[in-house]
Amino acid sequence: MRVTWSGGRLTFRLDAEDEITGRAADDHPVKLATNSCSIGGAPADAHPDLYAVAAWTIVAPWTRRRITFDRAVSAEVAAALYNGWGIEAGPVGAEPRRTGARLAISYSGGADSVAAAAIHPSAPFVHFRRVPHPRVPNRWPHYRSDVLAKLAERTGRELTTVTSDLEFTLAEPRPGYPEHHAVAAGALLLADRMNLGGLAFGYELGSRWLGGDRYLLRFTPDNPMWAPHGAWGRLFAAAGVHIVLPVGGVSEAVTMRLALNSELKEQVRWCLRGTEGPCRTCGKCLYKELIQAAVERRPLDTPVTADRPVARKWLQPPPYGGQEMIEYGLARVPGIERSLFAKALDHFEATEESTSWLDHCYPPAIEEIPEPWRAEAAAFLTSQVGLMTEAEVRRVETWGA
Ligand SMILES: [Zn+2]
Repeated sequence: MRVTWSGGRLTFRLDAEDEITGRAADDHPVKLATNSCSIGGAPADAHPDLYAVAAWTIVAPWTRRRITFDRAVSAEVAAALYNGWGIEAGPVGAEPRRTGARLAISYSGGADSVAAAAIHPSAPFVHFRRVPHPRVPNRWPHYRSDVLAKLAERTGRELTTVTSDLEFTLAEPRPGYPEHHAVAAGALLLADRMNLGGLAFGYELGSRWLGGDRYLLRFTPDNPMWAPHGAWGRLFAAAGVHIVLPVGGVSEAVTMRLALNSELKEQVRWCLRGTEGPCRTCGKCLYKELIQAAVERRPLDTPVTADRPVARKWLQPPPYGGQEMIEYGLARVPGIERSLFAKALDHFEATEESTSWLDHCYPPAIEEIPEPWRAEAAAFLTSQVGLMTEAEVRRVETWGA
């Protein structure tokens, strides 16, 4: 792979051994659509390691053996690419970037992201906004990135909105981030200007420790995407921007509660359809409604009926993505046995007691927050959420066993 940056425009050329269908770090197959993309507002003078890591978040799935950058990178970043992916990177010759002092939040407006923002109230936001690609038709006009960007502006936080068409480098399964970390490409390029030493993501307990989608039903202390000692964690750290997961120790029930109790609650939006509010009919709205109803201890309020395609998976047996939250909802939502989740009830013995670990914070998640920001997160999580007991910790560490 050969990559060239011209301002904020990235062009990449595949080497003979590269393939147009690759795999992202979550093992999902992704097919290349086009070999260029742009990031709006990128400075022309960022550290070469920042350009390199930003490019890697986009081209990693299609790179097999080596990557050649258009400017020399540090030996540290080259080593992180080799140790993490077995990729030879060069040329090598830059001094490493010094870790910055500030933490920014990669802000999506969803409940997890808002909860991370509540934990670090003075951290600025960097918001990624999808814009059309000049050469790839947009078949997904219902995705309202403009609405999310406006909501982010209304939070009153220091905000930098990064515009990018990088999601259109992906042909299949649909436009999206080639790697989950591509959402950070703009923030990486801005890291010198913003003096960033850390970037906070809204990945919660399920994504960090319970395997997310990839290792469904498995405890994942060595998660390659989000563990500090994983391939991505080491690469970001080598460029002086640590991956920080403020809500990595708490479930989506907790992030929902924190978000709905936060001063940003009016700006929370997890649905990318609809302009005036969540659409209420998509699969994500249905899943989030189950969690919200559980948190608010009220019956399910949804227009979705069991005959709709988005309801189909709940008529099938598990496993389900986010299964811990399904169990949590089944145990808590009044009248769930008369809802479209009734069939799923047959497969679980979930009770409030058996799911109460999902109301508390997994302490090792606080330990892995880098030192400059750990105390602030620990104080918030201890006072607003509470730590798991040893028995609850065992629930995390035996998940799926
Ligand atoms: Zn929706």
